[in-house]
Amino acid sequence: MAAFHYTNSQLHMENTAIADIAKNIHTPFYCYSQSTIETAYQNYTSQLKQVEHLVCFAVKANSNQAIIKVLADIGAGADVVSEGEMRRVLKADVPANKIVYSGIAKTKSEMRFALDQGIFQFNLESENELERLSAVASSMDKTANIAFRINPDVDAETHAKISTGKSENKFGIPISRAREIYKHAATLPNIRIQGVDVHIGSQLTSLNPFKNAFKLIHELVVDLRSDGHDINVIDLGGGLGVNYQKDEMANARVIDYCQFIQTLFEDLNCKIVLEPGRSLVAEAGLLISEVVYKKKGEERTFLIIDSAMNDLLRPSMYDAYHDIISVKQDSEDTEIVDIVGPVCETGDTFAQNRELAKLEEGDLLAICSAGAYGAAMSSTYNTRLLIPEVLVKDDQFSVIKARRSYDELIGMDNLAAWQD
Ligand SMILES: *Cc1c(COP(=O)(O)O)cnc(C)c1O
Repeated sequence: MAAFHYTNSQLHMENTAIADIAKNIHTPFYCYSQSTIETAYQNYTSQLKQVEHLVCFAVKANSNQAIIKVLADIGAGADVVSEGEMRRVLKADVPANKIVYSGIAKTKSEMRFALDQGIFQFNLESENELERLSAVASSMDKTANIAFRINPDVDAETHAKISTGKSENKFGIPISRAREIYKHAATLPNIRIQGVDVHIGSQLTSLNPFKNAFKLIHELVVDLRSDGHDINVIDLGGGLGVNYQKDEMANARVIDYCQFIQTLFEDLNCKIVLEPGRSLVAEAGLLISEVVYKKKGEERTFLIIDSAMNDLLRPSMYDAYHDIISVKQDSEDTEIVDIVGPVCETGDTFAQNRELAKLEEGDLLAICSAGAYGAAMSSTYNTRLLIPEVLVKDDQFSVIKARRSYDELIGMDNLAAWQD
């Protein structure tokens, strides 16, 4: 089922009218389609029939408990980058043996927590982390299952802020030193080498960078095995992009991505781990807002809406494009507008010179493909409350994060001891 569609000229998510949700929950709010998330997950698993696999949802893309639980209930594991995320996924019923732990600065206490849970794999990013993990595991008399994140030095052809696989990026160990580092790891106590890991960036819209990186990983696994290491897990990270601009043909499709992986790695008989974030949840989410003011500038017309950059950071941070549509589908009458939020920064702009159905003050609109890196990256900047999140399943909806009160937000501060 598509995440949304118009029925009787009203925008629906599954079989629920967005306007009906908005009658119950003040805008702005995020709204997610459960079946769209499930389908996105199944698009991966149904393709990977010829290899043993584990699809670990990169929860930094959307870490709401209900969203994690939707995926956990249909078998997904989780890729986490902090103790906080690990606690979130455990609480949402992801078993510890389906957790991979990434991130470049795992602290001793985070390592201890992960070892206590018995997670599936640590993805190590440096020799420093290796030494520290060995020491922590030894002190606890536990064994850490590890893979190194390999930096293959390939160009991900994506936005510079989310490109991670070039030698100048801070991530992983250089592929040129991998054999030497694995050799060293094999000598350390309480470390069990099990795999190889790579993640070259996010929102990749071409398969070529993946192909380049994965071929290097295949070669490396063959080399590491000939060096005597027991490599049986290949973690290929996440990064598959979504089609934010609906009129463009996506050329990096899950089906082709999975086919390439199966064909390339089938001979190695490894467990293939994937860590998709965005491609599982982005398209399932809408950000619903109301037009507060329609302001005619000298050259432009601005729709000032009630959500802002603190609610959805992607346009101001990455110059990201999001489709924007009217909740009420009526007139053919369109208009060129700038859609902006209320925050005092020019960067608080969702779209410029966008042709949109003519909207007036009080009308609702939906910012599309907002399910990934939306709520998860939001803040209370300008002392704006974090916005509610709603999960839709067929003709039902449920609030999966409620709006807090201003007292709760302001009450997080304390005056200094000398200020009373
Ligand atoms: C961010 C991240 C992911 C998920 O990336 P997407 O582009 O959302 O699929 C996976 N693995 C690691 C290590 C990451 O940092």
